[in-house]
Amino acid sequence: MDAADNEATEFIIHDTMVLTMDGARNAYESGYLWVRDGLVAGVGDATGLEALPRGIPRRSAAGGLLMPGLVNTHGHLSNGILRGIYDEMPLAVWFERGMWPVLEALDEEAGAAGARLALLEQMLAGVTTTLSAEFGTPNPRLADGVLQAISESGMRAIVSRMTVDSAVEGLASQAVPRKYRERPVDACREVERLQQDWCSERIAIAAEALGVLRCSAEMIEAMHDLAMRSRMLFTMHVASSREEHQECLQRHGRGCIAQLAEYGVLGEGTLLAHVIWLSPEEVRQLAAAGAAVSHNPVANAYYASGHGDLGALLDAGIRVGLGLDGASTNNSQNPWETMKAAILDQKQHAGDAAFGSAELALELATRGGARALGMEVQVGSLEPGKKADFIVIDASRPALAPRQTLVSNLVYSHDPGAVRDVYIGGERVVRDGVHQRLAHDEVLAGANEAMARVLERTGLDGYLATRGGWRWHRG
Ligand SMILES: [Zn+2]
Repeated sequence: MDAADNEATEFIIHDTMVLTMDGARNAYESGYLWVRDGLVAGVGDATGLEALPRGIPRRSAAGGLLMPGLVNTHGHLSNGILRGIYDEMPLAVWFERGMWPVLEALDEEAGAAGARLALLEQMLAGVTTTLSAEFGTPNPRLADGVLQAISESGMRAIVSRMTVDSAVEGLASQAVPRKYRERPVDACREVERLQQDWCSERIAIAAEALGVLRCSAEMIEAMHDLAMRSRMLFTMHVASSREEHQECLQRHGRGCIAQLAEYGVLGEGTLLAHVIWLSPEEVRQLAAAGAAVSHNPVANAYYASGHGDLGALLDAGIRVGLGLDGASTNNSQNPWETMKAAILDQKQHAGDAAFGSAELALELATRGGARALGMEVQVGSLEPGKKADFIVIDASRPALAPRQTLVSNLVYSHDPGAVRDVYIGGERVVRDGVHQRLAHDEVLAGANEAMARVLERTGLDGYLATRGGWRWHRG
């Protein structure tokens, strides 16, 4: 294999275990994947190789496990540099001291630096489709910085532009500084601009009204209408804290989901993130409307925001994907950890050790996520005609042994460093654990510089210096 391999438009990978994650759950102990023009041309058992056309270059992936790339249904790539600042900070304090002042400092350049770091981490761990929600205010170019980083990286992505125009003053978790609020007409224009400037085969734009209480009915309806008109995804952060839930009950006399049903914005083109605080009736409403959910178990636990009832959402037949959320609320961007957390959190909370399976976690992180994003025709499983987005895992890592329980070990005993190769649209973007488009050292140096600027501008450097009992000796 040489550098020209990365340019090849047609090739066959063989000599590897293959999990297709198709509807019938076909898996091959020794299988192959045939890629042509960025798409899956065929997949099957090694015995079928003989019947394929002659002369197609072959790559051996001996000792590997090949499966669809992972789909992250919720995150904030620009937050890649904000890891570790907010540990053990209650959510309300996080908004007041962290989020708003930091957003001010998060300009286009810092957003791009954060995104490159998060993209590098996600892609090295096997994510091939990611959703990133980015604020449109106060720095209207923040999303452009993130989109620039995405297009450099080769990631398949949806960037949703978050907007706010309302606030519950006095409730820190729902307050919004005045200068962050914008008019629906301006928000619509900006979403359309992003779509014009950045849409491509790999990148799509989505419209987002941030929350039920942070947006007026007009804003929520305007973002939803625009999304439906332009065939975009409509996204929101919803029912993500007890405070939001209680305030919504008080203000509207119903929960967040019921309020969105009232606005008429729950439908198949809607993806809601978090969705922790809802009644059984609201679960039925969500299911009946066909809206999808990004379940973000690590971020939910990080802020003790409540337990999202994954089992109830799945039982109701709701489309569910798994979200990492940003590095400021997780803090890792490791999808394997999120898969494990999703199952363990539900087992523990329901007191039911029989809940779920590694298979379910893999399903949620691949075809489940693709369905939640409305992208199941393109990605999420390895089937002819779908995008050739897949990963090859080194099955010989100690954490993945023994081989007899490999599928369970992928989820419950994963080593994210085991991801050897990552392909997006047939392009090998990660080769032997090395990103082929993003320069590792430059990404880290850029992240460190951007973080230093953000900390200095916000005064959070002083906070970090005094946190904990460490006695740092810095020469
Ligand atoms: Zn979020």
